[in-house]
Formats: sequence, structure tokens, C-alpha cells
Amino acid sequence: MELKFLGGCREVGRSSVLLNTGKEKFLMDYGIEVQDGGRPLQPPLDLDGVFITHAHIDHSGFVPALYSQGYQGRVFATPATFDISHMLLEDSLKVQRKRGMESGFTSQDIQRMGRKEKIMNFRDPQEIGSSTAELFSAGHVPGAASVSIESRGKKVYYTGDLKFVPTDLMFGADDSVRDVDLLISESTYSYKEHPDRKTLKEKLISIIEETCHNDGITLLPAFAVGRTQELLVMLKNIGFPIYVDGMGIRAATRILSHPKSFACPGELSESFHNSHRIRKQPDREEALKGPCVIITTSGMMQGGPVSFYVERLAKRKNCSMVLTGFMVEGTPGRHLLETGIYKNDQMKMEIRPEFPIHSFDFSAHTDRKHLIDFYKKVNPEKIFLVHGDRAQEFAKELNDKGFDAVAPKNGDIFQV
Ligand SMILES: [Zn+2]
Ligand SMILES: [Zn+2]
Repeated sequence: MELKFLGGCREVGRSSVLLNTGKEKFLMDYGIEVQDGGRPLQPPLDLDGVFITHAHIDHSGFVPALYSQGYQGRVFATPATFDISHMLLEDSLKVQRKRGMESGFTSQDIQRMGRKEKIMNFRDPQEIGSSTAELFSAGHVPGAASVSIESRGKKVYYTGDLKFVPTDLMFGADDSVRDVDLLISESTYSYKEHPDRKTLKEKLISIIEETCHNDGITLLPAFAVGRTQELLVMLKNIGFPIYVDGMGIRAATRILSHPKSFACPGELSESFHNSHRIRKQPDREEALKGPCVIITTSGMMQGGPVSFYVERLAKRKNCSMVLTGFMVEGTPGRHLLETGIYKNDQMKMEIRPEFPIHSFDFSAHTDRKHLIDFYKKVNPEKIFLVHGDRAQEFAKELNDKGFDAVAPKNGDIFQV
């Protein structure tokens, strides 16, 4: 067997791993960099299948380019992942065009991909040539899966993005896989434990209540897929108006059409329908009257309506903002956290908001403790750490604990 790491090594973004079983070649994820559209390395096109673990573009964002280059084979994922991917891919294409970037594929290629989609459900093994593939629920966002591929007596397990602890929106990941020989694991939070989610939720609610009682607005920049819906469920009894702006609205509609892909369809449906969905500029002006909560894209503050709100609320000290997700290095969200200045080159904006800015670690990724617990349960022969800025340190630490772990570089090949 041979593994080649095409992207997402020692970084978060452009995830992609090529597995050559000796009989078949499979590509697991083919994403782009979140902040600048950076691409993974080129795989061969005589693939026997492409798996998309989940819809986030750092995992799915360059799959249509394979079809543009002439790949004609199948792509495998859960129904929710396919549905949400199409929305995110079209959006990513639009954003790249707007920024004058070369996207590497067109809308037609997304449709071409659509015609080659093969739906897989969790725990329903599929034979592909001499290999058997199976998806396990990964907990991260609706539809998210880990991929198991068994071939010639060896099992490879690629986690994709993982979350074991259940959230207001999601079930925890399925950790029942065993007899794994090669484990390829995300390591976003290999260096820390997440604080108790219930305490964070209480703090978030008290910030919102205080802000609204002072006639202010709490701004919640959120990823369209996952976090927007989780916040809606979390804040369902807040007692102040909730406005939702940006792609999170369409994402909620798509997610609600896959009620088995998350834990609380009834609650999300109720909270979403009770919220004010912003469609046009006059709706935004209405929201700005407050007091209220505004949940808006984009999560890392690169684009979307969030810049508009930051600009308009910047001088209102009675407002507040809470960042609730992972901020990739180089994004305006990360810069704001580190400096207090919102600098968005795309929008030609540089503002120091006067309202307080909080950051709460409501991560959709598993933390270090749960990663290590998982490795103990699975007890793989070898662990490859990807999708993390600190994968090398973590590999060293795991080796000291008796595991055989490595943090590959992009382009590395391992014969096993
Ligand atoms: Zn993700
Ligand atoms: Zn990711």
C-alpha cells in the first residue's frame, strides 16, 4: 500500500490524501485553502473513487477540478455532504471570480461531478473493486464522515474532521471502528482541551442578555454550515430577536432537508422559523435598530455581510461581538483576535471596533484528550497526523506515549 499526502499537512486547509492499495487508487478529500484558495498537489486521474468526508471547502473545494481535468469516475459521500457541497462550491466559485482568482473549474464541472455522485450512508459498506469502503459518522457538521477502506487484509481509516462530544446540533462521532492498521487523523486541537461547553453557552447567553438590556446588538460571525444552526438551537429561548444573515440561511434550509444528519431537527426548525432571515439591505437596517442578536457569515470574517455590520456598529460601545469558531492563520478573524483591529484587504477596511470582542472556544473539532482516547481505543499500527498547525509536536508526544506517529509534509509518500 502507498499513501501520498497531497495537502493539509502541518496546516489547516486543502486536505487531500491519495491511497494506492496496489489494486485501486482512492482520493480522500480534495480541498482548497480557506484564506487564499491555495490548492493541493495533483493526483493521478485514473482514480477508482474520490471520497468527500464533509462539505467544508478545505475538504471538498477542488473536487470539481478533477472533472475539469478529465476524471470521469465516481465520487462518494453522504447525502447531506453532497447537498451542502454544491452550495459551498458554487459560492466558492463566485468568491474566487470576484477576487479575480483562477478557480480551476466552472459551474459545469460541479454539475459534471453531480452526475457521478454515489451516495453512501453511515455503516453501509460498499465494495469498490477489491476494496471495501465504509463511512462512520464524524460528528463535526451535518453529513460529516470518516472513511474506512479495507484492502488486501489492511484497514486504512481517515478521520476527516472529528468531534466526539455531542453539541446542541450534532451527535458525537462514532468511535466504534477497530482493527485499524493505518490511521490518518485530523489534529486541529492536538495542543489543548476544550472548556466545558455548557459553561461557555451560559457565558454567551449572559453577554447577549447584558448587551440587549443596554439596547445593544450582539454580533456573532459564524460559519454558514454547522455553527449558524448550532447557535440558532443554543439561543432558541433567548427572548430577544435573532437575525440570520448570509449563506447560513440557505445552509439551514439544506440541513433541515436531511433531518437524520443531525441531532435536533425539531428544535432547529422551530428556532430557524422564529428567527428573522435577512434577504435585502432594508432588512439589515431594521436589524441595526436592535436590541437583537445577529448571526452572520463569514465565520473567519473574510467576506459576507459581517464586514458591513462591523463597520456600522464599530463606534457603538453598547454592542458586543463573540467569535465562536476556529480562526485560521492569516484570516481577518484571527488578526482581529490578535490585534483588536478588523483589517479586511478585500473590502479595503481597517477599523478598531469600540465594542468588546470575546472569543469562545465552541469548536466543532475534537480536543487533545479525546484524540488520545480515540487512538487508545483504535490502537492503530501507525498514525499520520494531518489538518493541524502543530502536528509535528503532537507526533513527538504520541511517540513518547508508545504510539508510532508521524506528521507528514505535503508531497510525502509512505510505502506500508
Ligand atoms: Zn470541517
Ligand atoms: Zn477541515
